[in-house]
Amino acid sequence: MIQLQNIEKVYRTDTIQTLALNGINLDIEKGEFLSIMGPSGCGKSTLLNIMGLLDAPSKGSIRIDDQSTINMKDKELAKFRNQKLGFIFQSYHLINDLQVLDNVELPLLYRDSTAKQRRELATEALEKVGLSNRIKHFPKQLSGGQRQRVAIARAIVGRPEIILADEPTGNLDSAMGNEIMDILLQLNRNDGTTIVMVTHDENMAQKTHRLMRLFDGSQVQ
Ligand code: ADP
Ligand code: ADP
Repeated sequence: MIQLQNIEKVYRTDTIQTLALNGINLDIEKGEFLSIMGPSGCGKSTLLNIMGLLDAPSKGSIRIDDQSTINMKDKELAKFRNQKLGFIFQSYHLINDLQVLDNVELPLLYRDSTAKQRRELATEALEKVGLSNRIKHFPKQLSGGQRQRVAIARAIVGRPEIILADEPTGNLDSAMGNEIMDILLQLNRNDGTTIVMVTHDENMAQKTHRLMRLFDGSQVQ
């Protein structure tokens, strides 16, 4: 589903050059749940951003769902990303002055859909994460775990084949973290969604199919 070959990423500023990823090879199968661990600064977010087509590698190739993305133009890339990928972040990234339902509808605005279809899909996604009773709330009126569930609903509303999650439980206590993890496990098991998750939590990582450890931009396990 996701194939990375010899991925290198160099960040250059005027004075420093950082080799953030140093020859990553990775083949993630459809329906797989992979976790990525490693110390701060080892390249986890960089790797996830490259898989998510948010950032281009300095070297190497990427295939997603058997399509090479290397020659895609920005507009094509944005469309591809919108259709194939859902993103979840540690700090939720919700729009605070939009109600829950409107937050969840956002990814659908870039597709051909009617207001009614958007409403139906968003309602369905919120049911899946157990938040049907909060659709008119604003993010500030929700607990952290609830906000992350809204973010998951937004990530799945367009029915992406892949979810990329960057420390989705990092801001939550263990009870709420476990709730979020259970939702991700369900999406993986029931819908066959491929999931890649960066985490600092060994217990969460143990629940996934495979664990990749990064150190200093290289894969160590
Ligand atoms: P992690 O997610 O594992 O904490 P990152 O992928 O964020 O690591 O960062 C990997 C390395 O690349 C770090 O040394 C970091 O300082 C550097 N880095 C990340 N983003 C940038 C950037 N935009 N410009 C320059 N250096 C960066
Ligand atoms: P938690 O203990 O899980 O963090 P809170 O005690 O903050 O939850 O909130 C309990 C419930 O009340 C939550 O389900 C949340 O949706 C709701 N809630 C919290 N703050 C507000 C608010 N300002 N307006 C409306 N509902 C709220």
